[in-house]
Amino acid sequence: MQKISRSKVIFQFSPNNSPIATVQPGETVAVETDDCFRSQIKSERDLVTEIDFSQVNPATGPIAVEGAQPGDILVVQINRIEVESTGFMVAIPGEGAFAERLKEPVTRVVPVRGGKFWLDEHLSFPVHPMIGVIGVSPGDLEVPCGEIGDHGGNMDAKVIRQGARVYFQVRREGAMFALGDAHAGMGDGEALICGVEIPARVELSFDLIKQPEILPPRPVVEIDDQVVTIGLGPTLDEAASCALNDMMDLIQKKTGRSLDEISMLISAVGDLRVCQIVDPQKTARVEIPKAIFPDPSRPVLP
Ligand code: CA
Ligand code: CA
Repeated sequence: MQKISRSKVIFQFSPNNSPIATVQPGETVAVETDDCFRSQIKSERDLVTEIDFSQVNPATGPIAVEGAQPGDILVVQINRIEVESTGFMVAIPGEGAFAERLKEPVTRVVPVRGGKFWLDEHLSFPVHPMIGVIGVSPGDLEVPCGEIGDHGGNMDAKVIRQGARVYFQVRREGAMFALGDAHAGMGDGEALICGVEIPARVELSFDLIKQPEILPPRPVVEIDDQVVTIGLGPTLDEAASCALNDMMDLIQKKTGRSLDEISMLISAVGDLRVCQIVDPQKTARVEIPKAIFPDPSRPVLP
């Protein structure tokens, strides 16, 4: 299996990036990701206010997928996420949902052992590894890895975890995929501005859908028995509307049902959830049971 180290990262999804590795459709690779601080925080003495912010939110890549062309769909199957043994959380005055209430920057080391992360000696929770930053080239645009766009990026969607199958519209030859910002755990909303930030090793396989019948404008995720759209916008309302309408369009194209029927379906069995509320662009998602699609035992796309 090809191993891709975390030594080469990007801080922008950009047309100027050169691939650090090339994979074939069908290939499985192991990718190391750094934490969102690029390992600048090593102890509780290291404060987030003192690190170099140009080195924040690294994504390992880009990885070129042989044969990927604009208009294809890149399928990324997340087979396994293993997090390392030390995570970090930081409180930043002026940032996140508690911006006005937090007075001092604080760093907390969060050890991971026995399948749990430990917020203090007595308080632990099962590790739920997920990927915060994941995406493909936005085409001609340049988007920092800490931001979000139709290409993906810093979506912070908890559904992007082990077992997820993520679909991206390819916008540049080779797709130019990258990922980073793993969390040992994160609550929906990411209220403080971070999850349990941690380096990870992620096993992924890639595939391409050529000339897809349906080409969703933004990433779509399949996980367990659910299909998920992820929307973005400058407000949570707009992010929610984006995810809901993407889901409506996907169901319409897959099933040919009327908009009345689809709106009832989504309202009856679709769950609208917050991804994060702490970045300039918010993200929200809609989760719908795969059972509503014609052949739920098969992947939702193509
Ligand atoms: Ca993030
Ligand atoms: Ca993060």
